[in-house]
Amino acid sequence: MIFSLFVGAALAKKPPPPLPEPVYQDVVASLLGDALTQDVAWKDLVFLSTQIGARFAGSPALDRASTWAQAQMQSYGLANVHAEPVTLRSWSRGTLEIAATAPFARPLHGLSLGASVGTPAGGLEGDVVVVDSWDAFTALPDDRVKGRIVVWNVPFTTYGETVGYRFAGASVASRRGAVASLVRSVSPTSLDTPHTGVQRYDADVTPIPAIAITGEDATWLAMLQLQGVTPHLRVASTAAPVADVPANNVMGEVRGRELPEEVVVLGCHLDSWDVGQGAQDDGAGCVQALTAVWLISKQPVAPRRTVRVVFYVGEEYGIGGALGYAETHKAEKHFAAIEADTGAGHPFGFKVDVRKPGSTDEEPDAELVAAAITRVSAVQGPLKVLDMGQFEQGYGGTDIGPLIEQGALGFGVWHDTTGYWPIHHTWADTIDKVDPNDLDAGVAAMALLGWTLADLP
Ligand SMILES: [Zn+2]
Repeated sequence: MIFSLFVGAALAKKPPPPLPEPVYQDVVASLLGDALTQDVAWKDLVFLSTQIGARFAGSPALDRASTWAQAQMQSYGLANVHAEPVTLRSWSRGTLEIAATAPFARPLHGLSLGASVGTPAGGLEGDVVVVDSWDAFTALPDDRVKGRIVVWNVPFTTYGETVGYRFAGASVASRRGAVASLVRSVSPTSLDTPHTGVQRYDADVTPIPAIAITGEDATWLAMLQLQGVTPHLRVASTAAPVADVPANNVMGEVRGRELPEEVVVLGCHLDSWDVGQGAQDDGAGCVQALTAVWLISKQPVAPRRTVRVVFYVGEEYGIGGALGYAETHKAEKHFAAIEADTGAGHPFGFKVDVRKPGSTDEEPDAELVAAAITRVSAVQGPLKVLDMGQFEQGYGGTDIGPLIEQGALGFGVWHDTTGYWPIHHTWADTIDKVDPNDLDAGVAAMALLGWTLADLP
């Protein structure tokens, strides 16, 4: 008994053995194997999509999702799991009826755009004028705009370019006296599915209803106009802005072994539009980020820096979650941030977004981007084996934007968006569109890059 007490005391005095230096190749192989064989990401996405579903800012579903996310992070053994309250803007879709009354009666498929006002009680009606660009609209004489319903039938080029018409079309139309603004849904293809999304009124305009219609309906109206026929539409909507709402960002982490005060964020947004299930936008990104951090936490040795998964809220409407996180954590050093927010298709690699700290540039800094790509070159080889190793300058992500502005190295997962844009912000953003293998590939890409960034010397 005395002897064993003595041994215990001696052991207690001994310093802990130094942590073994992780062998990079071993870690990568382990993370890759784990990512491609786990079923956690898929199971979590099935639950989130089918048992919680759409999670718009201010909805009870978003609160349920935040509570669920916190419980999941705890069950995966992450450190410092907690929720952080933020304030979000909100909006009520209400009801929408939209139909042609001439040249013949026919319903159209539409979704009001975020922040849209409704129509006067009883609805409104008007002749249609169709344009396919800002220039075509500018060239219209005033009498072809005033009192009319403007249809922006703009062909899809890239999301970043075409979305400008959704965002600003109503303001531009209202300034010249239009009574409503309809935008062709922002998508390269369509199965008569309208796509919602946010829009904004300029301060100097009278808000008019802003509505997305389908590519098919926009084309129908355009072809009538080409034939000299003026369609006449009736619109009734009860959409309305509502008061700001409280919500919660949720996060958990793996503490770094050498530089725990430096953070690498793996981010996504937990909120979604109020249609569909938010399976690809952005449930997929969230389960990928969470699973990646969980896999990193299971490694025998932590990386040098802290790796933190952050589920932001409010991305689709007002980015209150991203702004709230950046404010709460402004004293922390964010070394790097990865965001997954372009669906669940195969990840080809990463868009790299690095800015000079404090710069207000709209574009990444090419030299800083090139330097960042060089720093993570070790991970390109393993990623390339699975066709996931392309790194090029691009957009990092909305939620991590404030961190990138502060100087964090930004990386946006570069998914194959072939199957994404057609269902983006629609009732069709549902779990059946997600391929579990592509989902797992995204987990692997985030885990490998997340570890690499967090363990850089
Ligand atoms: Zn999104």
